[in-house]
Amino acid sequence: PVNKTHNYRIASIPADGIGPEVVSAAIEVVEKLAQTMKTFKIEFTHIPWGTDYYKKHGRYVDENVLDVLRGYDASLFGSVGAPDVPDHVSLWGLLLAIRGPLQLYANVRPVRTFPGTQSPLRSAKASDIDWLLYAGHGGRSHVGQPWETATEVAIFTRIGIERIMRFAFTAAAARPRKLLTVVTKSNSLRHGLVLWDEIAVEVSKDFPTVKWDKMLVDAMTIRMVQNPSSLDVIVGTNLHMDILSDLAAALAGSIGVAPSSNLDPTRRNPSLFEPVHGSAFDITGKGVANPVATFWSAAEMLGWLGEEDAKELLMKAVEGVCEAGILTKDLGGAAMTKDVTKAVCEEIERLH
Ligand code: ATP
Ligand code: MG
Repeated sequence: PVNKTHNYRIASIPADGIGPEVVSAAIEVVEKLAQTMKTFKIEFTHIPWGTDYYKKHGRYVDENVLDVLRGYDASLFGSVGAPDVPDHVSLWGLLLAIRGPLQLYANVRPVRTFPGTQSPLRSAKASDIDWLLYAGHGGRSHVGQPWETATEVAIFTRIGIERIMRFAFTAAAARPRKLLTVVTKSNSLRHGLVLWDEIAVEVSKDFPTVKWDKMLVDAMTIRMVQNPSSLDVIVGTNLHMDILSDLAAALAGSIGVAPSSNLDPTRRNPSLFEPVHGSAFDITGKGVANPVATFWSAAEMLGWLGEEDAKELLMKAVEGVCEAGILTKDLGGAAMTKDVTKAVCEEIERLH
């Protein structure tokens, strides 16, 4: 536990699209947990960054983003992006403007199927999909220049690769199956990704209990569909894991249940937790967004803060609600966001 007082201040950054709907649902559920368990206290402070803020101030976040967020134990983020702002402007304006200065270099995306929900893989058993995907965000991993001749240069540093690799090996060593798959594309990207392969070999020497292998990203898409139970922890570059984690979420049933943690493993800076999905304009304001991805992200946040029991109770409550068939449309149900939220709150009380 980092914070021995069990008294937490959280920055809530709902931002755009369905972000406000799912973040307010998650706050309701976490406040219910705190009231019910009485083992910790938590206070959410609303931070109005996002596209409306951008249109007013010409920037997505406060100039002192680092100082502002350092005043909190963690951040709970919704999603960023609006139909009338190009995606790279909003994404770099908000999320990457936080990840960079705070050095949140480990992006962790757990994936699993929930009881009562279905994978599109007809052959898959629920237990086949239970993965952790890691992406490295080196502060210096993407340098794109808007020149006439477009060149996108990826810079991979030894320190950047090694720290995410160590993080992934450590996570694999702590899981029952102790499997790790290192994903690269070193046959075609023969500089940066060959360095990934080399560093994987070096780091693996410190983790003799981990059984690891490496895969090219293209072959990995096939393996995820055809042999999901052979996977456990997966690590790769930001670009590759962005693509694979959408595939993984779809295989697990819906992007609406996929959480992510943006961690500073050194714990010098507060980490940020957010659903994997985006703003989802097609369903914004309709009250049908699946809040489970944000509930799970909030559970990961509680775990990171040291409140393991709260994390476990929240996840059990979500499982119970899924099993009871209280599902949003993306999972084949007809429940609204507020129905799922209310059901999870009731389940927390029942299970406690
Ligand atoms: P971004 O660029 O911000 O990642 P995107 O274009 O990848 O956005 P999403 O916003 O993630 O797209 O949405 C992809 C699809 O998944 C949309 O049809 C959206 O409605 C659906 N979707 C996303 N999140 C949810 C959710 N929480 N509940 C239900 N459906 C969702
Ligand atoms: Mg997306």
